[in-house]
Amino acid sequence: MNSELRDLYQEVIIEHSKRPRNYHPLAGPAQSAQGYNPLCGDQVKVWVLMDDDKVADVSFEGSGCAISTASASVMTEMMKGKSTDEAEALFSTFHDLVTGRDSAEDEIDELGKLAVFGGVSEFPARVKCATLCWHTLRAAIAGKEDPITTE
Ligand code: ZN
Repeated sequence: MNSELRDLYQEVIIEHSKRPRNYHPLAGPAQSAQGYNPLCGDQVKVWVLMDDDKVADVSFEGSGCAISTASASVMTEMMKGKSTDEAEALFSTFHDLVTGRDSAEDEIDELGKLAVFGGVSEFPARVKCATLCWHTLRAAIAGKEDPITTE
C-alpha cells in the first residue's frame, strides 16, 4: 500500500471514529440486528429501513475500536439506496479487500471511500473489526433476531 493511501486510511479512520455518521437508532418499521466481535470487544447495532428490495435508510450505534466504528460509519454512508444484491456485492468486494485478496480495478472503484480500508489487510487481527458491521447489516436486512458474532 502506498504512503498516500496509508495516510488517507489513518485520516478516514480517525475522522469517522470521532464523528460517526448516521449514529442513531431508526424508529418505526426499521429492522435491526446486533453484532459482537469477541476478539476485540466491538459491539454494534445496525438498523435498516427497507423499501421493497432497496435500503431506504440505514444507521448504527455501537461501542468498540476506531476501526469498527469508522467502518460502520462509512458503510452507512455508502449503503443508502442500494439494493440487497448491490449490498451483497459491495460486502464481497470489501471482504476481499480487507483480507488482501486481489479484486478487479472496477470493483475497487465501486467501493469509493471504503477502498481506504485496504489498509486493514496489513493487520489481519483487525479484519473482524472492519467486517463486523457488514455481517450485522446483512443480518438486519434478513430480519435475523439473534445477535451475530464473528467467532
Ligand atoms: Zn475492533
